[in-house]
Amino acid sequence: MKVKYRDLSVKDEKMKNELLQAIDKILSKGQIMLGPEVEIFENQVADFCKKKYAVGIGSGTMSLFMALRALDIGEGDEVITTPLSWIATLNAIILTGAKPIFVDVNKDFNINTCLIEDAITSKTKCILPVHFMGKICNMPEIMKIANKHNLFVIEDSAQAFGASIDGKMAGAFGHLGCFSMNPMKIFSAYGEAGLILTDDKKMYEKILSMRYLGTVNRGDCLYTSLNGKIDTIQAAILNIKFKYLEDRIKKSQEIAKFYNNALKDIVTCPLTETSEHVYLSYTILTPKRNELMEFLTSNDIETKIQYPVLMPNHSAYKGKYKFNAPVAKQLADQMLSLPNQDYITMDEASYVADKVIQFFN
Ligand SMILES: *Cc1c(COP(=O)(O)O)cnc(C)c1O
Repeated sequence: MKVKYRDLSVKDEKMKNELLQAIDKILSKGQIMLGPEVEIFENQVADFCKKKYAVGIGSGTMSLFMALRALDIGEGDEVITTPLSWIATLNAIILTGAKPIFVDVNKDFNINTCLIEDAITSKTKCILPVHFMGKICNMPEIMKIANKHNLFVIEDSAQAFGASIDGKMAGAFGHLGCFSMNPMKIFSAYGEAGLILTDDKKMYEKILSMRYLGTVNRGDCLYTSLNGKIDTIQAAILNIKFKYLEDRIKKSQEIAKFYNNALKDIVTCPLTETSEHVYLSYTILTPKRNELMEFLTSNDIETKIQYPVLMPNHSAYKGKYKFNAPVAKQLADQMLSLPNQDYITMDEASYVADKVIQFFN
């Protein structure tokens, strides 16, 4: 048996036909920039996340950059985040001119809220928590700290579409919630896509303008900005994918439950199944990570380390930012993501679990 980590080919014939029809409709009509598909996409996501406004953006990275700039964050400002994320988070912060401040994570991969207040200075403008691999951060606590110190909160919800705490969705807690809908995410297009959520009408209008080079309807330019429009064909694809999303999340939670039961006595399974978690990846921890990965590869099982290098340790940034994050460092050394979600069958999941167990025996 061969188990891929991710398989982006479309297996569901019904869904494939719906996708092709949606694209066909756009090609026939000829409205290929913005248009009704984008509005439907935005309204659907705003409703799902119980927020007033959503703006479709060209990518998750661009959504983070535009969210920061919409709040006028830039040179001289500090943004608190963690070292454990996809490099997009850090690049977006740095490109605004702001300085990133790294706070360590908990064993659940997310920012340790007990350490945030110590990192706040007179220059701090914003807390930017990352809902790592589908697990939502302790947002009630983060909002409490932000309100106390009068800070903005931008949620990097790229990995956690659909995760929630007591019915409140990831991306809906902060002043702005940013998403990526790239092909690797839970709610995924077949190309680049992203989105920003807000309840603030002024912010909404500003971000609408910012995604169109800072103009209002291609007229007067109000803000120095980039082209951040979402692609209409991707929005149409996401409107189809949205119908299949709930099942997909259920499947990834089902597989997580299966892995947890099968593996919890053998390796550390840091995350139990709750609505707080949509399992973009299913990640275990073991000091024998590299050996296990090699063993699984030799048994035709693809796994991934997400991410082996902490953001500030990438070559572009190494040595530039002081940070102390022993937990993040340990996680990066021990984490391994197993194949999960609807990319695999239950039979394949059980083959993966058997091989992990065999390795440790
Ligand atoms: C994927 C991702 C992004 C960037 O999204 P893109 O759509 O690829 O630009 C940002 N932050 C995190 C945590 C991500 O996983």
